[in-house]
Amino acid sequence: MERHNMAPPGIGSSTERHLDIHNTRNSQNIIVLDGGFATQLSCYVDEPIDGDVLWSARFLSTNPEAVIDSHLDFLRAGADLIITNTYQADVDLFVKHLNVTKEEAYNLIKKAVELAKIAVERYMQEFPNARRPLVVGSVGPYGASLHDGSEYTGSYAANTSLDVMREWHTPRINALLEGGADLLALETIPCRAEAEMLVTLLKEKYPETKAWLSFTAGQDGKTTAYGEPFQEAARACYDICPDQLVAIGVNCIAPRLVESLISGINDKRANPIPLIVYPNSGESYNVELGDDTASYRWINRDKCEPVECYVAKWLDLGVTFVGGCCRTYAIDVTRIKREVEKWKQDHRF
Ligand SMILES: [Zn+2]
Repeated sequence: MERHNMAPPGIGSSTERHLDIHNTRNSQNIIVLDGGFATQLSCYVDEPIDGDVLWSARFLSTNPEAVIDSHLDFLRAGADLIITNTYQADVDLFVKHLNVTKEEAYNLIKKAVELAKIAVERYMQEFPNARRPLVVGSVGPYGASLHDGSEYTGSYAANTSLDVMREWHTPRINALLEGGADLLALETIPCRAEAEMLVTLLKEKYPETKAWLSFTAGQDGKTTAYGEPFQEAARACYDICPDQLVAIGVNCIAPRLVESLISGINDKRANPIPLIVYPNSGESYNVELGDDTASYRWINRDKCEPVECYVAKWLDLGVTFVGGCCRTYAIDVTRIKREVEKWKQDHRF
């Protein structure tokens, strides 16, 4: 198709065929992530996504082509990897709300990986000389299954045992890996206890698997969403499993909060942590507005500086994985990618 003839930004300049996610400390090796999956998906589906008990995961079952198209948009926009549509995926939740058996629910999570791989294949057919993008299995927090807003605060950490969280996380991780995900995104994690549990689980049960760990943070630009010092939590988690963690960082927070969270995190560290940042657009989600499914609950977009304005600064601070989360579209990924390429040009030595 004609409109796809132009290579995504950055593709033409790459001489390596494989993405090296393990050696990002070389400042020229910056990995660009995708954007908000549910946000891009909203371009393809009429049904409301925000407010749905299964969020975008419902469409694995009801509209797989829209899932593939959304992934493909991010790849054409310049993403080096795509994250599966499984943030809110959960076997029990699927059984309850999609009227499927446990086995079918498990297979639906595997199917999420399959759909992402189909997008990669279609992309490689369009751009045979491109580096093959990776498929990253999304592992959202336990709180996302509770539907009480606690995924944003981590308040469930106070009354949920680590065993319960571990048991809840395990089937999805198994399905993602069985489906063939290249690595895992342990993402939007609001509290240190869950993060440490996940990283320990990775080390003990999945020693061959790589992952990144990404926290959500509080409004003070210093703490996790649950209120623990972010840098301390990040360092502790990295030290549990440095060989398997490709990066640690933050996602789904306002871009303006990022700098103070990550500045100085690697000072005096012999073993520096590779950093990952993929914020939301900075808009606020106002639960007071409209009904459960109203997209106009996202407000103040005009008051936010776009994510790409921050990219050079983050790269200066040592970030090597950068992308977008909620309310960022494929077009935002293109803008982020352009900033990354510009920064690399400026820092060629
Ligand atoms: Zn998000």
